[in-house]
Amino acid sequence: MPPLKNDCFALPPGVHWTPVDEALADLRTRLSSVVDTETVPVSGALDRILATDITAPRAHPPLPNTAVDGYGFLNGRGEGDHHIPIVAQHMPAGATPDTSVPAGTAIRILTGAALPSGVDTVILQEDVEVKDNAIHFTGPIKQGANTRRAGEDVKVGDVIAEAGRKLTPADLALLSAVGVSDVELRRPLRVGVLSTGDELVQTGEDAGPGQIYDANRPMLRGLIARLGHLPVDLGAVQDDRDALRARLDDAARQVDVIFTSGGASAGDADHVSALLNEAGAMALWRIAIKPGRPLALGMWQCKPVFGLPGNPVAAMVCTLVFGAPALATLAGAEWAAPQGFMVPAAFSKSKKAGRREFLRARIRGGQVEVFASEGSGRISGLSWAEGLVELPDDAMSVAPGDLVRFIPWGGFGA
Ligand code: AMP
Ligand code: MG
Repeated sequence: MPPLKNDCFALPPGVHWTPVDEALADLRTRLSSVVDTETVPVSGALDRILATDITAPRAHPPLPNTAVDGYGFLNGRGEGDHHIPIVAQHMPAGATPDTSVPAGTAIRILTGAALPSGVDTVILQEDVEVKDNAIHFTGPIKQGANTRRAGEDVKVGDVIAEAGRKLTPADLALLSAVGVSDVELRRPLRVGVLSTGDELVQTGEDAGPGQIYDANRPMLRGLIARLGHLPVDLGAVQDDRDALRARLDDAARQVDVIFTSGGASAGDADHVSALLNEAGAMALWRIAIKPGRPLALGMWQCKPVFGLPGNPVAAMVCTLVFGAPALATLAGAEWAAPQGFMVPAAFSKSKKAGRREFLRARIRGGQVEVFASEGSGRISGLSWAEGLVELPDDAMSVAPGDLVRFIPWGGFGA
């Protein structure tokens, strides 16, 4: 008889475990934006999602201008000593460039001022001596020195931001610089958060023996807010099918998408998956991920439902890995693949083939450390962590100093 293989317990036999990338690709092709649009002033558009491409109505800079305080004239000058008489006018920033500077003369000009006609070169004030109403300096200076060309940053008609972009402070600067005052944005996505379980009590209540405090709901509301959506608190509900059904009906009228935690497996008390099954639009996704399986995905009265596992660590990992990009898509944003980077490990670990693993992790001293316990009920480890180490689907053994992929919370957008 052949000996048992080392990985014989890796995954239950007879079940197809969907690889993480396959699950993500499915979500990506099946989901699309579910929110309509509204027009908002640029000043109120931070972290909101653009609904249309934005083209520049004005160039930046709009006219050629000077990058320094100095003296402007026509053409560069070669090696040797030069002196150029100064004209009476001067050009502060904001002045209309309606003067004409005669050939062989220079004009006093200040940073940001448009170049008047007859000027294409500016010498830094520190590089000249002003004497007898003329500037004296030693060449060479190249034609065009210290000036900015019209449109060198942005040309009229350039696409400066694409539909689906989440606007950053720098984007607000760019839009404002070319004179955009209002933008069409996606309405914020309303994400309902519901906890399920007979064992749950809320903070502020007395917890009886056998009861636990609801930790997932504040965490998920916080995550959803960090991801840039509008969390809607749907409370907690007992493991009671009718109560859950009523709560989902109510939720479907208020929100765009529903996140539940707990009750997502196929057991007797797993009413979330049972109801989604009953509604006929359910896929119990057995995803090859640790921590995190199973994830119940379904539709309830035309609203997508993410049935997250009850374990807080699994609920958070599933929200970051699957929820974040899915919500971005529903909100009208670009698909948001997590951004991680390779860091030397400060730990040892060996993993089997066939599932992706995420470890609670943080960087200290240029190395990534992982939380001592992988138990998916250990909330203290989530709180300790500053991101996740992602170990690939294949078997792997990590020794200290090996490069592993670290994704900070911000790399998930959270
Ligand atoms: P379930 O997915 O419902 O089987 O729950 C898995 C584990 O997560 C159980 O130990 C639950 O008590 C726990 N759990 C479920 N919901 C929550 C919650 N909202 N806060 C903290 N732990 C929870
Ligand atoms: Mg439960």
